[in-house]
Amino acid sequence: MITISVDTNACNNYGQCCFEAEDIFALDDDGTLQFVPQADDSRLDELENAADACPMQAITLNR
Ligand code: SF4
Repeated sequence: MITISVDTNACNNYGQCCFEAEDIFALDDDGTLQFVPQADDSRLDELENAADACPMQAITLNR
């Protein structure tokens, strides 16, 4: 299992991560990032892409 953390102080709600894993990261109606805090190991590539895409480097993954 992969644990997903987002530094909400760093996150500027740009939403790039949402394009990489749409069912894990999403902007709500207020434009604020919501995310699922855990995902299966099979999602690692997508999550790494999301973390790499984040311009604020706000996403941390732990296995
Ligand atoms: S890409 Fe980074 S800054 Fe943008 S919403 Fe996702 S976590 Fe926040």
